Amino acid sequence: MTAKPVLNRAQFHTSVARLRDLPASQAEIAFAGRSNAGKSSAINLLTRKNRLAYTSKTPGRTQLINFFELDANVYLVDLPGYGYAKVPPEIKAQWEELLSRYLQERSALVGMVLIMDARHPLTPLDQRMLDWFLPRGKPVHILLSKADKLSGNERAQTLRKVKQAVAEHASVSVQLFSSLSRMGAEEAAERIESLLGPVEPAEGNDVAEVLAAQHP
Ligand code: GDP
Repeated sequence: MTAKPVLNRAQFHTSVARLRDLPASQAEIAFAGRSNAGKSSAINLLTRKNRLAYTSKTPGRTQLINFFELDANVYLVDLPGYGYAKVPPEIKAQWEELLSRYLQERSALVGMVLIMDARHPLTPLDQRMLDWFLPRGKPVHILLSKADKLSGNERAQTLRKVKQAVAEHASVSVQLFSSLSRMGAEEAAERIESLLGPVEPAEGNDVAEVLAAQHP
């Protein structure tokens, strides 16, 4: 691949319910976050496609992994939002299996963008996403979303607090973000594009390949 993948080329590619159905991919960046944290708004702003990530919110798609193609075999991946108040235990278990294995094993995954409401950062479920992904040592970029809802002082305090909380992990970066005011949009887009390219081909032993071998 020569040119950098560009976020505004994003186009819906596919929705996946099971790991074995993950598409072949050279590089992908996953967007994760609690439901209502502002993930869809962030994806729409960063890709400059007003309704793109709402595809992921259509009935039947909210629990799926949604792939948006940025370039040949390069994807932005919208992971299912978590933290719904009333989720039956079996759905919760499915969610944990899907998300944890995707984050721990997907070889094409080059980094994660974790969207957290700046007013409620680092909830226990956000922490779990980090616990699953951080051991791989790949970059995590945290967007403290809806920062327009905080005063200047509160913004500075929140940023400092979250940076302190993740300071032991060199692979984690944090910034303030607002889809409403576009605060931090350029910084976020640059970070994501630099994580994605130029990229080396993914190595074997991908979770989808392993599962395909187990269940031909
Ligand atoms: P998702 O469930 O994480 O995909 O969240 P959405 O992007 O759908 O946003 C959830 C709600 O928060 C919606 O009502 C959005 O309009 C609102 N929202 C999202 N981003 C922002 C933001 O940056 N500022 C403000 N004030 N509201 C936002």
